[in-house]
Amino acid sequence: MNNILAINGGKPVRDCYLPYGQQWIDEADIQVVVETLKSNYLTTGPKVAELEEKIAEYVGVKHAVAVSNGTAALHAACFAAGIKEGDEVITTPLTFAASANCILYQGATPVFADIDPKTYNIDIHDLERKITDKTKAIIPVDYTGQVVDIDPILKLAEKHNLIVIEDAAHALGTEYKGKKVGSIAHMTTFSFHPVKHITTGEGGVITTNDEEFYKKLSLFRTHGISRDKKLLVNNEEGSWYYEQLELGYNYRITDVQCALGVSQLEKIDRFIDRRRELVKKYNEYLSAVDGVIIPYQGDYSHSSYHLYVVQIEVEKFSVGRKEIFEALKAENIGVNVHYIPVYYHPYYQKLGYKKGLCPNAERIYERIITLPLFPKMSNDDLKAVVNAVNKVLTYYKE
Ligand SMILES: *Cc1c(COP(=O)(O)O)cnc(C)c1O
Repeated sequence: MNNILAINGGKPVRDCYLPYGQQWIDEADIQVVVETLKSNYLTTGPKVAELEEKIAEYVGVKHAVAVSNGTAALHAACFAAGIKEGDEVITTPLTFAASANCILYQGATPVFADIDPKTYNIDIHDLERKITDKTKAIIPVDYTGQVVDIDPILKLAEKHNLIVIEDAAHALGTEYKGKKVGSIAHMTTFSFHPVKHITTGEGGVITTNDEEFYKKLSLFRTHGISRDKKLLVNNEEGSWYYEQLELGYNYRITDVQCALGVSQLEKIDRFIDRRRELVKKYNEYLSAVDGVIIPYQGDYSHSSYHLYVVQIEVEKFSVGRKEIFEALKAENIGVNVHYIPVYYHPYYQKLGYKKGLCPNAERIYERIITLPLFPKMSNDDLKAVVNAVNKVLTYYKE
């Protein structure tokens, strides 16, 4: 085997770059999109309603509201929860910025609770410590697809009268104690970005069993405007009449996108089975590699695995995560880091968040690397990743 690292001028393990995540679009997907383009509806039409029904049925919930992306889904959920200026909302720092930005959109204050060093999900004890009389809601994230232990969070929420919005952008198809994510928290949000479990290009959805939340989410998606006579202040006007009742946005998703979403959803079981199969192989190979900690999974979680994140025991190597990351990338392996703690970003630093706030998240951030994982990946792709990890870690071993 060629053991000169590609970063030092050797031959890379792979000839072409393997991305960390990628959609899987087939002929059937293309066909339904073309049919929708030929239909009478481009935006809000029958395909939006169909995708909402099918998502609701899939996760086992009463209502689903499809929107333009997962960030809009979070924003809409924060609006429906009545989050406003002066409120505090607790979330995790080990997430995509959108999980906290949605709190700022509503003029409220994000409060970061540290993560559990084993699951990398929000730590229930730190969460409880951060509750004040200003706390209005909790936004836990199902990091990588592993569901957060939601029962204790819901119990805490009940005690303090808080709303729980689960950011399940990573967890479509994940089960919590045998029940699908999406029907458990007060509201749950998903994303249909191309790297997520199913895609509509850009897209997202909020699911809920609560009638009031459902009405607010639907209003918020289209400017806060309604034609529903039961909701209008003045219902004496003619049939042209509508009213703006709230300050909403245009967060609509198109029929073209939803046609793709419906077609993708038909394949979700296959997509998830393949993700689980790949993770099993990764775990087998990588648990034997000294210096690599494979993902932990709580017994309450049956993950649909959006991401495969390993922790590097950096103390066992002559270099840090940065050098290992760059060396893997040079081998043509599409590594990534999920995530930079949200409050490290200059925007949050300017708001006054200080480094040191969540020591577990900060420590984990220095040690994690995301390896490629997507259903279309072949077993040979996976072996190349494992070979690259072995090659790089062997070279840098202390
Ligand atoms: C992808 C993602 C989002 C945002 O979804 P978009 O559809 O990209 O707006 C929010 N939260 C998490 C944790 C995500 O991974």
